[in-house]
Amino acid sequence: MSRIGFIGLGHMGSGMATNQAKAQHVVKAFDLSAEALQRAEANGCHPVASAADAVKDAEIVITMLPAGSHVRSVYETEVLPNAPRGALLIDCSTIDVDSARAVAGKAAEAGFTFADAPVSGGIMAAEAGTLTFMVGCADDQYEAVRAALGPMAKAVVHAGAAGAGQAAKICNNMVLGVTMLGVCEAFALGERLGLDPERFFEIASRSSGSSWSINTYCPWPGVGPKTPADNNYEGGFLTALMLKDLKLAQEAAARSGAATPMGAQAEALYALFDRMGYGGKDFSAVLQWMRGQPQVLN
Ligand code: NAD
Repeated sequence: MSRIGFIGLGHMGSGMATNQAKAQHVVKAFDLSAEALQRAEANGCHPVASAADAVKDAEIVITMLPAGSHVRSVYETEVLPNAPRGALLIDCSTIDVDSARAVAGKAAEAGFTFADAPVSGGIMAAEAGTLTFMVGCADDQYEAVRAALGPMAKAVVHAGAAGAGQAAKICNNMVLGVTMLGVCEAFALGERLGLDPERFFEIASRSSGSSWSINTYCPWPGVGPKTPADNNYEGGFLTALMLKDLKLAQEAAARSGAATPMGAQAEALYALFDRMGYGGKDFSAVLQWMRGQPQVLN
């Protein structure tokens, strides 16, 4: 049993904190939202009045916040000044690599172990405790991080040193955004050529066109395994979050000098789809736009 300070109880953090409480850890939980705090209490956590209160006697601190600015500010003003020296600090938010490395540096200076550990998997995986974590931390710190993430995880992978978890996350999601767009274009073209979508799925998912985007997350309703496409693209991985991750990838590409023209194109297409009003739909809904019928999403 460990004492855990958990900060950020939104769509993802709520289920993650609950799974730590279910694993018999004492979870002091904080969020700016009163509703989130009430939900945390109902789920076995101990709501507290501030982030400082959540971390002040914690052995492990876990944060699940919207973006890099929130993470920098919460660590600089609440966590590092108030957590006991030696506490293990893990940020699971998806943020830019530079912010992750900056926080890791400040944490190390102050005598803490810090890991960036963004996740793959959405709200359902957060609730089920089946997230995949990509961890950036020193080799000798990894075992403790892996153990701390256990109750929330299906898999934990050590990506490398500080910031490597965030790098892996944005590179993985750039693959996902690009392949989903390719799969949607292929289905739309196939339809124009008179190809039955079920037959195309059977062929492409067993041929060189196979990918997670078609095999596991087929965007055509009623074809392949059950996916958000079968629920009018509700739930799943929101277009707005895919756009956030593609933007992070493009910012990182610009700063590092990497050429990512397909990632840039994917970012532009998802930005347009988001501006059309579909940010709240699953990212595979771009299929209907490519078929020329986005109105079916309304
Ligand atoms: P969310 O907006 O639902 O939750 C964020 C929570 O942080 C909110 O409840 C907010 O009140 C709280 N918060 C903000 N500033 C705070 C502060 N200073 N102190 C305490 N609490 C504060 O977001 P989410 O969907 O839970 O996502 C969290 C992170 O996980 C993001 O970085 C996101 O990119 C990433 N992520 C989300 C998903 C998903 O499917 N939702 C999947 C993978 C990764």
